[in-house]
Amino acid sequence: MTKPKNSLVGGELRAPHPANLGRHAAECKICAHPQREEVERDFINWRSPAAITKQYALGNRASVYRHAHALELFSKRQRKYQGRSGKDH
Ligand SMILES: [Zn+2]
Repeated sequence: MTKPKNSLVGGELRAPHPANLGRHAAECKICAHPQREEVERDFINWRSPAAITKQYALGNRASVYRHAHALELFSKRQRKYQGRSGKDH
C-alpha cells in the first residue's frame, strides 16, 4: 500500500456547479487572480465589494458580484451572518 494521501487539494471551497463554473472562469478576473482565496474570504466576511475591488485591483465591482454568484458565496456569507445574530422574525 503505497498510495499518496495528497489527493485533497483545494480544501473547503468546492465548486457547486462545475459546468457553469468553467464558462464563468473563462471571463472572470477573480478566478484567475493569485489572491482569489483572500478575495473570497473578504467577501464572506462582509467586506464591502468596493473595497475588495480596490484592494485586489479587480477593475469593476460587478466582477466581485459575478464571481460571488457563480461560487454561491452569497449563501456562504448568509450562513455566517445567521450564525452571529439569533433570529430575524
Ligand atoms: Zn470567478
